[in-house]
Amino acid sequence: MTAGPDAAGAEALGLDGWLLEVLACPQDRSPLRVDAERSELVCTGASCGLAFPVRDGIPVLLLDEARPAGGPGGATDTIGTDGPAPGPDPA
Ligand SMILES: [Zn+2]
Repeated sequence: MTAGPDAAGAEALGLDGWLLEVLACPQDRSPLRVDAERSELVCTGASCGLAFPVRDGIPVLLLDEARPAGGPGGATDTIGTDGPAPGPDPA
């Protein structure tokens, strides 16, 4: 399969179609599909289904950033995604 419907979805998120084809879920290496409405890449693995955010056209394929997909709603659980981890600021 080459450029399919996902290509348009990928472009909606600022991603290149080819990028989607080379990306894979870091947990189970399954292909990812685009969820343009949520600006996420969703794992197609049957037993995985993690959703990864896309920020400024950059997919964040980190398990720490992923959330389980297919759950009810899911828009309410914001687990410390306010920004980078706090650390010493030399300035
Ligand atoms: Zn997966």
